[in-house]
Amino acid sequence: MSFVLPVLKYSYEDLQPAISREIMELHHLKHHKAYVDKLNRALEKYPEYSDWTIVELLSRLDQLPQDVQQTVRDQGGGHYNHSLFWQCMTPGGTILDSSEFYNAIVRKFGSVERFVEDFTTQARSLFGSGWVWLTNDVDIVTSANQDNPIMSGDQEPLMGLDVWEHAYYLDYQNKRDDYIQAWWGVVDWEFVTKRYDTSHSNR
Ligand code: MN
Repeated sequence: MSFVLPVLKYSYEDLQPAISREIMELHHLKHHKAYVDKLNRALEKYPEYSDWTIVELLSRLDQLPQDVQQTVRDQGGGHYNHSLFWQCMTPGGTILDSSEFYNAIVRKFGSVERFVEDFTTQARSLFGSGWVWLTNDVDIVTSANQDNPIMSGDQEPLMGLDVWEHAYYLDYQNKRDDYIQAWWGVVDWEFVTKRYDTSHSNR
């Protein structure tokens, strides 16, 4: 089994004006596709890992042959991270309704607004290329490059924001703040809420 580029649940132009069709096309068809292809190529010579899921690969990097560990980390991380990123967005966004997830956010941050503020601050101040995550433990964490919380422990990301320049430069140039603000308008809270519920019912 090899990994495949996931189909999006919306069209490339549907997230406009927050994210342009041009960025979505490049980001999905070129950047994400390249992560998938390079991951598959790296694992070709090790068929014994062909039934490992992407989560298994990323959470057990140290069990892989040394010569592919970094490639699986970078390219596999890129595949997982982007697959989640696309799902965290939907045209026009959805509402964060009262739910167990909503309550967990309020317990941790005081309010949804405060959570959004904290997440935004982390996204603005992350140096270089990387991601900002909300984990299933309702923590905000950042990671460099294509790393993610699966690699560093038992936390699973519920949502992630790509702050690599390729995610926004065509539309926003150096104005990362404007990209982050626009992104909040396309967040699919229903998806994130379901992910929280799934993660917590499995415990
Ligand atoms: Mn990206």
